[in-house]
Amino acid sequence: MEKDFSLRELNTFGFDVKARYFQELKTLDDVQELIRNHEFISCRDAALSRLNGNTSHILILSGGSNILFPDEFYDGFVVYPNLKGIDILDENAETVMIRCYCGEVWKDFVDYTVSLNLYGLENLADIPGKVGAAPVQNIGAYGAEVKDTVYQVHTIDLATGETKIFSNEECNFSYRNSIFKNQWITHALSQRDTTGYPVGTRHALSMIFAVDFVLKKHGELKLDYGNIRNYLIANNITNPTLKDVAATVKAIRAEKLPEVGVVGSVGSFFQNAIVTMDKYLEIKELYPDVPSYPVEISPLPAVARDVINTEGNNKHKNVISSEVEKSHKSIKIPSGWLIDRAGWKGYRENHVGVWDKQALVLVHYGGGKPSEILDLMKKIQDSVYKKFGIEINPEVNIVASL
Ligand SMILES: Cc1cc2nc3c(=O)[nH]c(=O)nc-3n(C[C@H](O)[C@H](O)[C@H](O)COP(=O)(O)OP(=O)(O)OC[C@H]3O[C@@H](n4cnc5c(N)ncnc54)[C@H](O)[C@@H]3O)c2cc1C
Repeated sequence: MEKDFSLRELNTFGFDVKARYFQELKTLDDVQELIRNHEFISCRDAALSRLNGNTSHILILSGGSNILFPDEFYDGFVVYPNLKGIDILDENAETVMIRCYCGEVWKDFVDYTVSLNLYGLENLADIPGKVGAAPVQNIGAYGAEVKDTVYQVHTIDLATGETKIFSNEECNFSYRNSIFKNQWITHALSQRDTTGYPVGTRHALSMIFAVDFVLKKHGELKLDYGNIRNYLIANNITNPTLKDVAATVKAIRAEKLPEVGVVGSVGSFFQNAIVTMDKYLEIKELYPDVPSYPVEISPLPAVARDVINTEGNNKHKNVISSEVEKSHKSIKIPSGWLIDRAGWKGYRENHVGVWDKQALVLVHYGGGKPSEILDLMKKIQDSVYKKFGIEINPEVNIVASL
């Protein structure tokens, strides 16, 4: 275990945040050792006793490409899962099942599956981060989501050391969400079970240590999202292969997004806005070029529904947060378009700013503090709300302040 450990290399924003405690885990035996560690136990007990205050003294950190620390010191315990390995488990005429351990780099894993000519992950090429984090926010890009390839997720409870498998259905995947996201916060119910844990939080200490994927030997390529088809045509590729699509996605991403390690970012800082049809029509009248996609909001799992019923988080009536259950069609409006139209694209203030090629991306140019990003986030949210009456919410995981 390390103390006062610098996380500068472990968050793609590149903020110089220090963690009071830090432990890398390379094997499941390391996990068993961790749960006997005194510092870990005291952080875990503090976390459990303060669940209702929405704080966490334990953070599972992988590639740090979807994390924002609000302060420069994290007064808790950072667990860094880094188990390695890729195994082919099963194969038939149509599909291949592959187990990938959490510490493998996502983009390398995608390259590996593409090199085997397996369909399913090609549109998710070059997303930063590790495999263990991919199910957490159900990563997605260019019309694909990881949920469509995940067969099951292997977890280990950092309180008890018990392993548990979540089937695809049990993961409760939805748009940039799953049962694993905001584990401490969204499942913080006050009722306790017989072991003293808040009801509904038994998975709250779940560390994903491996993911089983089912990929197809023959599949249909998804070319109709973003610029994929145009890019292929411009490059005279009339009959694209799986490898062409992965290469195209990489090329388009490289043109649009800041390079990890060069300019600090977490990719899309905000989730896309999901609005009612009425709200969409109101905006379309004023801005006929507003881009939009229909969405069907899926029903919530019972636990999350309880939390929303007791805490309520839908501030503005026209906005349907992705957590709010709706049976009718809603409309997705890209938040990048809203931010751009509110005049923020390319904006810079000291060490931080809005990426000039994609307004959804907030950037840190170096030498700044997390509070500068948080200030910019609030200004953008206020300005978008003032202009369109739409609340945009962060996609990034903002670590709770202690
Ligand atoms: C330039 C750039 C582009 C991006 N593009 C996309 C994109 O196209 N689509 C997209 O969906 N995302 C995108 N992202 C966001 C990010 O890459 C993904 O969310 C990625 O899955 C995060 O992986 P990570 O290993 O960095 O996780 P981290 O940032 O370390 O963690 C993310 C969350 O997962 C939890 N977590 C991490 N590992 C585990 C584990 N093993 N078990 C349990 N919980 C865990 C953490 O506690 C945290 O809540 C982008 C980021 C950047 C910087």
